[in-house]
Formats: sequence, C-alpha cells, structure tokens
Amino acid sequence: NTGRKPLMAGNWKMNINHLEAIKLVQQLAFGLKEADFEAVDVAVLPPFTDLRSVQTLVDADKLAIAYGSQDVSAHASGAYTGEVSGAMLAKLGCSYATVGHSERRQYHGEDEALVNAKAKAAIANEITPIVCVGEGLEVRREGRHVEHTLGQVDGALEKIPADQARALVIAYEPVWAIGTGEVATPDDAQEVCAAIRGRLAELYDTEVAGETRILYGGSVKGSNIAGIMARSDVDGALVGGASLDPGEFIKICRFRD
Ligand code: PEP
Repeated sequence: NTGRKPLMAGNWKMNINHLEAIKLVQQLAFGLKEADFEAVDVAVLPPFTDLRSVQTLVDADKLAIAYGSQDVSAHASGAYTGEVSGAMLAKLGCSYATVGHSERRQYHGEDEALVNAKAKAAIANEITPIVCVGEGLEVRREGRHVEHTLGQVDGALEKIPADQARALVIAYEPVWAIGTGEVATPDDAQEVCAAIRGRLAELYDTEVAGETRILYGGSVKGSNIAGIMARSDVDGALVGGASLDPGEFIKICRFRD
C-alpha cells in the first residue's frame, strides 16, 4: 500500500453516551503518541448525540483524532424528521460519514440508490464518505462475493466524478464477519480489496484507484490486525466492537509493533 496512509476508524455503533465519549476519546488521546499519528490516521465514528462533545475535546486539546458520523441524510434540509444533514455534520467538524453500513442496509432498507445519494451528500459538504460494502454468508457460500461486492461499489459510486472519487474511503465488510468474531482471512480481505481497487481503475483511472483507501472491517482485534494489514490492498480497518475498548483500539492502531 505504497503512499496510502492507513486509516483506523472506530465505529461505536449505538454505544457510548456523550459523557462516556469524552472518557473514551481522552483515553485514546493519552494512549496514542505522536509517532502513532504519523503512522496512521485515527478516526472515531460516535453516535450523533456524542459529536458535539467529541468536537469540543478535539478542538480544545488540538487532538489529531478525526471524527465522523455513522450515517448522513441524503437530503440537504427540510421535512425529513429524524435525519441529520451533511451540512450539520460539517458544521460539527466531521471529517467522515459512514454510508451503507450493512446494519443500515439490513435494518433500514438502504439500497444502492440511497447509499449513492448519501455518499454524494457527504461529498457535497466536504465530508469523506466511508462507503461500506460486503457480502452476506449465503453469497459467500455461493462464491459470488466479489461480483456482489463490486455491484455495491458500482451502485454507491454512480455518477460520482473522478475528482470527487478521490475523497472516498471504501470499507469491505463481509456481513458474516461483522460482530461475529469470525474474521476474514488475510487472503479473503486481500482478494476483495484488490478487486475493489481494480474496479476503481475501471470506473475512474489507476491514479484514483492507487490513492483510494480501502479498509477491511469485520471482527478486527489487536491480535488479528497485523496479518490483514500485511496485504497490499488493505489500507486500514473499520473496527466495531474492539473500538469501544481503548487498549484494544490502540493496539490496532499500532499494528506494526
Ligand atoms: C462494523 O460494525 O463496522 C464492524 C466491523 O464491527 P465488528 O468489528 O464488531 O465486527
């Protein structure tokens, strides 16, 4: 992964209230050293209600920890009760917005068109979308995981031009590996991440493909991250459960040790 700085992003999901968020970010700030931030980009993705607290802490201490949201509305503003716009997130200093997480696809019926609209809404507000893709167990068993995942990539990136595609992060998260403890093998992760990079080269060009960070996600822990990161097309991790434990998340950030 020459030239691509790894990104370790912690998806807190629906855990941790705003007070606990302050504690967790402080623990990360005390634990991580300058050398860590030189080696990897570190981001947390808290629930919406925590973002203001995280912003205050990051700003006050000039922390190198970036933060973002777990979702973003496809709409700019208006009568969309319960939604949070990209402009609101940008105002809170969010660098990232997760779009198309498998839990959103599964429990909120998000389809490719909506994921595409959300990615565009993030980009329109200068927020980097972390576009989540990945197959379920059935598809994996049928051996259609690459085809399925690339279909999701095509859908999510539709009509996003090359100059905007540079701002993307893609996370390959096989659904069977999320929250199950069953991590993909480094070979599994590499196979699909390489295929995604190949598709980016087809959709755009080799420069965009070479610059885009492609993360792996699914039961990443301190004990399994090094093997996954050793593969050339894996540029970081989207970490769920293990990101709630500062010691474990710091270990993941220090995967080279
Ligand atoms: C996730 O939710 O994006 C995820 C990868 O979860 P976990 O690490 O808990 O499998």
